[in-house]
Amino acid sequence: MTTERIAEFFKTRRPEGPCLVVDREVVRDNYTAFRRALPDSAIYYAVKANPAPQILELLASLGSNFDCASVAEIEMVLEAGAGADRISFGNTIKKERDIARAHALGVNLFAVDCHEEVEKIARAAPGARVFCRVLTDGEGAEWPLSRKFGCVPPMAVDVLVYAHQLGLESYGVSFHVGSQMTKLEAWDAALADAKRVFAQLAKQGIYLQMVNMGGGFPTKYLRDVPTAEAYGQAIFAALSRHFGNQLPKTIIEPGRGMVGNAGVIKSEVVLISKKSDDDKHRWVFLDIGKFGGLAETMDEAIRYPIRTDRDGDEMEPCVLAGPTCDSADVMYEKNMYPLPITLTIGDEVLIEGTGAYTTTYASVAFNGFEPLKSYVI
Ligand SMILES: *Cc1c(COP(=O)(O)O)cnc(C)c1O
Repeated sequence: MTTERIAEFFKTRRPEGPCLVVDREVVRDNYTAFRRALPDSAIYYAVKANPAPQILELLASLGSNFDCASVAEIEMVLEAGAGADRISFGNTIKKERDIARAHALGVNLFAVDCHEEVEKIARAAPGARVFCRVLTDGEGAEWPLSRKFGCVPPMAVDVLVYAHQLGLESYGVSFHVGSQMTKLEAWDAALADAKRVFAQLAKQGIYLQMVNMGGGFPTKYLRDVPTAEAYGQAIFAALSRHFGNQLPKTIIEPGRGMVGNAGVIKSEVVLISKKSDDDKHRWVFLDIGKFGGLAETMDEAIRYPIRTDRDGDEMEPCVLAGPTCDSADVMYEKNMYPLPITLTIGDEVLIEGTGAYTTTYASVAFNGFEPLKSYVI
């Protein structure tokens, strides 16, 4: 949402061009809410959601750990003041030389989801801790992570046995229920799978310690979402159901839920037009689109709240598109977006809930448009 601090920033600084403004106080509140909701779980912020140095510094100072996907992200976190012992290299797809580099920097926790990746880690980071990612169905997530990451639970057992044989520390199991997960029950089936992997390995004398419960915690866009507290209760209940009184160490990796609602993008209406005299619908073109940071509007998956100064006026559904010369650069067309009929070229619009997955998704210079500017206040 547009906090008073963000509104004040736009009013006094009047930045030129589309830009994202993130309110650190909201990030701090989100961190505190996760802390309270799951007091026994370690928080590993998913850096990819928004790696702005001020956000990493704030979270480092609050005691957060970090989930990184590349050496560059690891270096950013170290730069922000967190030690390597607070970093997980959570990408299951890593070059062997990047594993070696991370290990040299002190990182000792790595994700795997196959035998081949275990072999790389055994060579490049001997003795390191590994956790194996299991597949989930992504059912109920607005931005599902499909089958790209993870393996089926029986294979996770084999992968972790193999890691043990190669001298690594088989440390745990991870999953990600899918991003923007609004179903509280989603963690239950994944925790049942995790428990089965724990039990199978225990039979072979390998005692796992940790379940990495991933991200998936939502940001409020147009529809209400359950509170962090509700997620905490559902997850704790599922943990107790499956692990009884032998609870493992747990990790959560919020990305979107940590920063999504902390950011607002300011944009400007560049053009409003119709395709024929009797066209029923107006096309509204903004100075930001899919290539300028709104990549998650792909397939109209994420529907951001959009505010204008004319929201009291009558609304009509419009096609909403970006400014570039690629015809894929249309945000909402199948499901058109209601905007004020009085909306005019040159008007400013605020796109809320854009703190996550925007700045880093912006193209470098498609059509000569600059990457999305960002301010952390
Ligand atoms: C992207 C990602 C996250 C963050 O997911 P959100 O849905 O944004 O919370 C967490 N863990 C891993 C391994 C990821 O790839």
